[in-house]
Amino acid sequence: MKDISNKIRDIAVKLFQEKKIDIFIGWEKGALEFQTRPLIARNEADAAKLVFDEYAIHNLATLLLKFRDGGEKIGIVAKGCDSRSMVRLLEDRQFQRERLYIIGVGCPGMKDPLQAMAKHTGLKKINADGNGVAAKCLDCVQPNPVIYDELLGSQQAPQQSGERFARVAALEKMSADERYRFFEETLSKCIRCYACRQVCPACNCRTCIFDEMKPQWVGRENSTTDNMMYHLVKASHMAGRCVECGECERACPVDIPLMLLNQKLIKDVNAFFGPYEAGMSYIEGAKPPLSSYAEKDPDDFI
Ligand code: SF4
Ligand code: SF4
Ligand code: SF4
Repeated sequence: MKDISNKIRDIAVKLFQEKKIDIFIGWEKGALEFQTRPLIARNEADAAKLVFDEYAIHNLATLLLKFRDGGEKIGIVAKGCDSRSMVRLLEDRQFQRERLYIIGVGCPGMKDPLQAMAKHTGLKKINADGNGVAAKCLDCVQPNPVIYDELLGSQQAPQQSGERFARVAALEKMSADERYRFFEETLSKCIRCYACRQVCPACNCRTCIFDEMKPQWVGRENSTTDNMMYHLVKASHMAGRCVECGECERACPVDIPLMLLNQKLIKDVNAFFGPYEAGMSYIEGAKPPLSSYAEKDPDDFI
């Protein structure tokens, strides 16, 4: 990956020198080995800090939302999941393709910094497999970028642990009452910090229903009913839009299995309206299934 880091730095510096970009979004190294963090570089000196390594796990596409109203030209690095998120932002008209210079990198799967930190501090047991691979990468269907201007690294095979929908299948086997109790208990832990919303590239509405005060759709207090309302609404808004980047679950401070909800919707959208996986290709003007209507759409649930 050192070679890829060097190439990313060279490209970013050249783009700044040629005045083709105003900003470059990638990663830089923190103090410890597992502390790789996003970097918004604004000049050649910043670009010299860019790295790409096994902890470059963050989905950088969400950072583009900070610049959606500006005219800056932006260079950005994209793994498979980042690139699918960029497609979603383009489809949602949150960004213009001509403002982006995308450096795609085939992703071999990233390590989980929290697991590494747990190992480093000895404060928390690491996952049973102990190999440090992030949960979100174990069943990645698209490790290679789907949209790019330059491509680095070798193409990677999709990860297939065979467990992609295992948790969903177990949930589907429960009775309605069992499922309700499961979600009631699971979601009662939510502290409504909204970290899962903030990191999500598909959650890009300018005015979010959960911030509205007039009318106030969801109470501010931390009650299980309001928590369930939040998760029901967020999950339904993700239907046909979630790119399975896993950042919401990774960001959750109380370990709520958010991918369970997202993957249930991915599975159902695929079954009812598919075959479909969000953000797999960019076709100008194309819309995701739940943003378009066809007379033959199934409607027996109405
Ligand atoms: S989800 Fe896929 S593309 Fe994204 S970091 Fe993991 S392996 Fe890489
Ligand atoms: S990140 Fe976790 S605790 Fe915070 S709102 Fe989302 S589910 Fe709730
Ligand atoms: S809902 Fe979670 S997995 Fe899906 S796009 Fe948003 S952050 Fe990524």
